[in-house]
Amino acid sequence: MSLALTIAQPVVPSASDMPDGRDWVNRAIATLSAEQTRSADTHLIEVPLRNAPGISLYLKDESSHPSGSLKHRLARSLFLYALCNGWVREGTTIVEASSGSTAVSEAYFARMLGLPFIAVVPATTACEKIAQIEHQGGRCHRVDDPRQIYAEAERLAAHCGGHYMDQFTYAERATDWRGTNNIAQSIFDQMRAEASPVPAWIVCGAGTGGTSATIGRYIRYGRHATRLCVADPEASVFHRHFHDRSVTQVDGAVSCIEGIGRPRVEPSFLPDVVDRMIAIPDARSIAAARHLSAVLGRRCGPSTGTNLQACLDLIAEMVAAGQGGSIVTLLCDSGDRYSSTCYDQNWCDQRGFAEADADPRLQTYLPLRHGVV
Ligand SMILES: *Cc1c(COP(=O)(O)O)cnc(C)c1O
Repeated sequence: MSLALTIAQPVVPSASDMPDGRDWVNRAIATLSAEQTRSADTHLIEVPLRNAPGISLYLKDESSHPSGSLKHRLARSLFLYALCNGWVREGTTIVEASSGSTAVSEAYFARMLGLPFIAVVPATTACEKIAQIEHQGGRCHRVDDPRQIYAEAERLAAHCGGHYMDQFTYAERATDWRGTNNIAQSIFDQMRAEASPVPAWIVCGAGTGGTSATIGRYIRYGRHATRLCVADPEASVFHRHFHDRSVTQVDGAVSCIEGIGRPRVEPSFLPDVVDRMIAIPDARSIAAARHLSAVLGRRCGPSTGTNLQACLDLIAEMVAAGQGGSIVTLLCDSGDRYSSTCYDQNWCDQRGFAEADADPRLQTYLPLRHGVV
């Protein structure tokens, strides 16, 4: 063999040199990478405040992802993690336990990769979300007891030789918290030109706990003075666990706020990176979501209301202390997903949620001149 011929050999191994099945995995990873390249960053929107001198409030608008919520980031990360771990191959059925938004985003990526997708959802999930999962090519498997969705998803995956994605376990480790355009890095980059570029507080909810884990780790990694506040529905176990680590489960009613608040402490919830937790009654979350929707002129989902309600406490404390600074919170998804739930008057009436539940401080700091959306 001549030297010239040796040099002419391709440096990259040809497809036939790849171990069995890795061709497909390579193409799948390239597909995810191309999707990320096509995607723009989400907007950071400033919401003007009144009666709060020197304080600025920003919303990271996660509703603008192609699959409609902050779960777009999670789903992309979970697929990449599963592919790189060798857990997902050509034809693997993907199964997830999800109250809706994760399933919508995972269905979106499963279809992109040509994989079958089954969502195990609580029977109470909003019908708009079921329609969206099916629109993305997924199938839904309804379970009456929301506490059974994990076991059922695991059983179903084992039964069909598929892969149980398990967002509640893997959310915190599937995302690279050091960067790679995670939500925290994006927030700090987008704040660079603001009057108070390092937020005094970042406020988010916890469903898997993945978002708070990523933000809390990134704050430490970047050596920022920012504090992380998690806004949690009253019925959720997370804030109880935060104050007493021996509490890992709550019985009784579950929260009406989709996407956040859990009856059991999820493995991806990392309390040690959280500086503060604020428990929010569902009625206040819904009233805050409605108020913010009227301020913005477009509907946002109820977990965004939970976030805003926690921001009111922080704003009031900063005002009382004469402190300025910035607060960043998340607009997690659009209210279009909830027209048959918290934007339906009958649904609210049946649960006793009323306009009177609105925190009067909404009107103090985010005054509204027009009607409610
Ligand atoms: C999942 C979700 C959250 C919470 O995010 P996690 O990273 O899972 O803790 C908040 N709001 C909505 C609408 C969600 O779907």
